[in-house]
Amino acid sequence: PLPRVAWIGLGVMGSPMAENLLRAGYPVTGYTLEQHKLDRLAEHGGTPARSVAEAARHADVVVTMLPADADVESVAHGPAGILANARPGALLIDMSTVAPRTATALAAAGAGHGLRVLDAPVSGGESGAVEGSLSVMAGGPPEVFAAARPLFEVLGGTVVHCGPNGAGQTVKAANQLIVAAGLQACAEAVVLLERSGVDLDAALDVLNGGLAGSAVLTRKRHNFLGRDFTPGFRIDLHHKDMGIVTDAAREAGVALPLGALMARLVAEARDRGDGGLDHSALLRGVERTAAP
Ligand code: NAD
Repeated sequence: PLPRVAWIGLGVMGSPMAENLLRAGYPVTGYTLEQHKLDRLAEHGGTPARSVAEAARHADVVVTMLPADADVESVAHGPAGILANARPGALLIDMSTVAPRTATALAAAGAGHGLRVLDAPVSGGESGAVEGSLSVMAGGPPEVFAAARPLFEVLGGTVVHCGPNGAGQTVKAANQLIVAAGLQACAEAVVLLERSGVDLDAALDVLNGGLAGSAVLTRKRHNFLGRDFTPGFRIDLHHKDMGIVTDAAREAGVALPLGALMARLVAEARDRGDGGLDHSALLRGVERTAAP
C-alpha cells in the first residue's frame, strides 16, 4: 500500500498538491487553519484532521507547506507538534520555502525524535502545483530522498536531489533571486514597450522566441498585460524569500548587487500596500516612476 500522508498547510500550493496525491491513490490526512480548505480536502477524498498532532500521529510521511520559517517551527516543535507526535521512522518533508539554516536545524531536531527529514521546496507556482509539474529541489540524505522520490514524482515534473539538508533551500533561494530579477526586467520591458507605442503582443512573441524568452515572460504575460495581480505568489512571500536570499548571501560571503536591489524593490512594493498582490505587481512600481 502507498504510504499514509499527513499534509500540514493547505494553501494556494498545498491544496492542489495534496489533491494530486489523493488522485494518485495516497491516503491523505490534512490540517490547515481555514475550514473551507479542510472541506475542500474532504471533497477530494482526503481526511480533515482537527490538529497537527492528530494529522501526524498515524502518518508514514508528514509534509509541511506553510508560509514561513516561524510557521514551520511552530508546527514542528512543542507537545502538540509534529516531532512529538509523528511515529519514529516517519519521513518529515518540509516543502515550504524557508532559510537553509531552518532546514538544517529541523533535520537535526527531527533526527533527535527518530524522524528522517528532507527539505524540498518547489518552484512552478500555483499552475505547477495544479498540473503536478513543479520543480522539486530536495536536500537530505540520498537514501531518504530515494524513499520520498515516488511522492515527489506525483507533485513535480523536475525532481532533483541537490545535496545534504539545507541544499534544497539554498537552490530555492537562488530560484527566488532569478525570478525576482526576471519579473522586474520583464515589467520594465513591458512598460517601456507600451509607453513607446509598440504592439505589445507582437513584441512579447518575438522576445519569447529569442534569448530573452523565459518562464517569467510566458507565465506572467497575462498578469502584466491585463494588470491582473491576483495571487499566485504574493509579494509578501517574495519579500520573505528576499530576506532568505540576503541571509544566504551573507553566510556565503557573496555580494549580490542585483539581489540587494530586488530586496529593496520588493520591500517597497510591500510598503506601498501591494503585499497581498501577485509578485508580477512589481510592474506597478515601474509605472509609478514613469512619466504620466
Ligand atoms: P498560503 O498562504 O496560500 O498557504 C499557507 C497555508 O498554511 C494556509 O492554508 C494556512 O492555513 C496554513 N497554515 C499557516 N499556519 C499554520 C499552522 N500553524 N498550522 C496549520 N496550517 C497553517 O501559501 P502558499 O502560497 O501555499 O505558499 C506556501 C509555501 O510555498 C511558502 O513558503 C511559499 O513561499 C512557497 N511557494 C509558494 C508558491 C506560490 O506560487 N504560491 C510557489 C512556490 C513556493
